[in-house]
Amino acid sequence: MEQTMLDQFYKKINKLKTEKNAVILAHYYQRPEIQDIADYVGDSLGLARKAAQSEADVIVFCGVHFMAESAAILSPDKLVLLPEKEAGCPMADMANAQDLREMKSKYPEAAVVSYVNTTAAVKAESYICCTSSNAVKVINSLPGFKQVIFTPDRNLGQYVASQCDKEIILWEGYCNTHDRVTPEDIISKKDHYPQAEVVVHPECRPEVVALSDYTGSTAGMLKYIKDSDRSQFIIGTEQGLLHALKKQNPAKEMILASKKLICPNMKLTTLPKIVESLTTMRPIITVEKEIARKAYLALDRMLKI
Ligand code: SF4
Repeated sequence: MEQTMLDQFYKKINKLKTEKNAVILAHYYQRPEIQDIADYVGDSLGLARKAAQSEADVIVFCGVHFMAESAAILSPDKLVLLPEKEAGCPMADMANAQDLREMKSKYPEAAVVSYVNTTAAVKAESYICCTSSNAVKVINSLPGFKQVIFTPDRNLGQYVASQCDKEIILWEGYCNTHDRVTPEDIISKKDHYPQAEVVVHPECRPEVVALSDYTGSTAGMLKYIKDSDRSQFIIGTEQGLLHALKKQNPAKEMILASKKLICPNMKLTTLPKIVESLTTMRPIITVEKEIARKAYLALDRMLKI
């Protein structure tokens, strides 16, 4: 999009934001122009905290459906808008409450730890939530439990299992974007950029994680690269993070590990859709009261850690 057009959208959005007392929260995987207009850009944990603390009347959530649901659960007195209502998360849809109840009856002694990338109904069936930033810390904070049912990401679950001493019962879910990166992708990039450090997200397959110099959440990757004295990095996470990485480290080179690392759902939000959403105050994301009450407990336990 041309700069003059961008400026026009930014002007419109800023005017609407003031009129409606709205705040724009955007995930690091959003398009660059969305990240640039946001009041706060963050990973799932940072966004959940911001949603809970915000004093705005309206939260415009530039991300996917489960994130807007979490904002609605944490801020029941605010109106939460998701500018693109079709922006879902295929991994979140790989777990449902009924199947989780069945799993719980098979392992009655286990605590259910759900990645925030789950529907509100699955969170409502969980003891506590976690993000990729705090998953190990969350699981280690459960001293009374020897077994943990971890939903829905089997890759993050395996990573966590390698970092703690509890039995982790995995769910067969995965992120369609991160799971597509292969060890061959990493090896081929390393052949071209032998000096580069490999930095990947734990939603990648264990064989990919095993080839990395650092594995961590988006916030963890940002910190690691900022602090590193290397100048080239092979990045194993969704391409949107490169925008923040390049802004923060203009002298360092970022190489995407694979061109498959694009989440189509995260790219559905556009500037015209934000304008439309703030004008019509739609689509509103709500969560059924009893599900929201139970899901709040799981999210709140995480936020207190
Ligand atoms: S990147 Fe993966 S986990 Fe994140 S929204 Fe897309 S499919 Fe879901």
